[in-house]
Amino acid sequence: MLKRAESAENLDLFVNARQQFERALTWIDGIKVGIIDYLINPKRTMHVRFPVHMDDGSIRTFHGFRVLHNRVRGPGKGGIRYHPDVTSAEVAALAAFMTWKTAVVDIPFGGGKGGVVCNPKELSRDELRRITRRFVAELGDAIGPHTDVPAPDMYTDQQTMAWIYDTFDLMHPGKNNLAVVTGKPLDIGGSVGRDEATARGGLFATEQLLKLGVIPDMQELAGARVAIQGYGNAGSTAARLFHAEGARIVAVSDSRGGISNDDGLDPEQILAHKNESGSVVGFSEATNISNDELLAYDCDILIPAALECQIRADNANDVRAKLIVELANGPLTTMADDILQERGVVVLPDIVANAGGVVVSYFEWVQNLENQRWDLDKVDNRLKKKMNHAVDNTVERWNALKERSEEGADGGGSHPTLRDAALVMAIERIATVVLQRDIWP
Ligand code: NAD
Repeated sequence: MLKRAESAENLDLFVNARQQFERALTWIDGIKVGIIDYLINPKRTMHVRFPVHMDDGSIRTFHGFRVLHNRVRGPGKGGIRYHPDVTSAEVAALAAFMTWKTAVVDIPFGGGKGGVVCNPKELSRDELRRITRRFVAELGDAIGPHTDVPAPDMYTDQQTMAWIYDTFDLMHPGKNNLAVVTGKPLDIGGSVGRDEATARGGLFATEQLLKLGVIPDMQELAGARVAIQGYGNAGSTAARLFHAEGARIVAVSDSRGGISNDDGLDPEQILAHKNESGSVVGFSEATNISNDELLAYDCDILIPAALECQIRADNANDVRAKLIVELANGPLTTMADDILQERGVVVLPDIVANAGGVVVSYFEWVQNLENQRWDLDKVDNRLKKKMNHAVDNTVERWNALKERSEEGADGGGSHPTLRDAALVMAIERIATVVLQRDIWP
């Protein structure tokens, strides 16, 4: 068991996002000081409170947030999550990650994010439907196909997106409103490949990183031992896709705990067990382990695919993987980043690793606006191209920053990470557009 040392570490996700941003700035020349504040803080934060009839006849007030972080490169884009721990600061940080992610993979969006403070596990389908419809009504014209486009995130799914579309469409009759939200069911304008896009993009990105020789002695996935935290959309799909490429899934977990088997787990059988029992825990051909043990599991690749701030100063030294692939948003704190870098553990950052979701959301948005339907080959081929390109660019920039660091030119004496490289690219792209568009008036 890992011991949670008392630490002075700040686990506020926005503080960590700001630290990442400030660290990247040390590698950028000549950015106008006045632009920095504009680029880190959200453009707009909406906080709505709304009443909902519960099944037992009572009325409860819910809080919802939608943060539009930046839209100089295009409409805001980012998921909506339902979770009891949602806060305005968390949503703002997640929206900032979206701004940087859409810039890294070079799609014409900015960044946004939303959330409702609720516990979906304790809510009926009808209650979730009423919460969703009322939340969308409260947001009004703050979302729209050309202003800010939501998508699924933790504990929201295709059904939630269908309710969002339907509510917005009823409020804006007579228009093609399909592009107001992505991650919809196929029958109402969803894209093939969207449901597994985050994990598939993570797979393509990992394969490309290995091909580029970034991890010594590991050029391909075949035979790699993989541990995955979180067995929802991102985590369970990653288990299936990595397994199909020859990786051995040695440990997985969800909110109730984890399981392991050094001989390898069968992802489909685990999913069937989870669907039946509600958790991966108790799967017959495995040993039960805790989530702390999962993060410290002996493996080559660790994939956090659940919540933020999971790997911190107090447990980063216990990580045994050579590579961390961040399918979750913000799973590492800045202090964890520093510790892992010192220990030679490579981190493929969230703004590259999990960008497949927003890339295929972009494909869905394009199909909706053009009333087109692409086939799966077209979606996957284009996704692969985007992910490979993002990884190639990030590694290229990383190598260039490392050269500068060896010359002692930049970075305040520190060594760059892949996250620094990706963020430097994103910030430069966004700052360039701000200046090209010019600041009105
Ligand atoms: P999901 O709701 O489908 O699954 C979340 C999983 O995390 C569940 O298995 C849950 O049991 C598990 N979990 C919750 N708390 C946990 C804990 N304390 N320890 C271990 N596991 C825990 O959500 P998702 O869509 O798979 O999203 C997971 C992460 O991936 C989030 O950080 C999300 O922001 C990120 N992400 C998702 C997408 C997407 O398209 N779905 C895209 C980009 C990033």
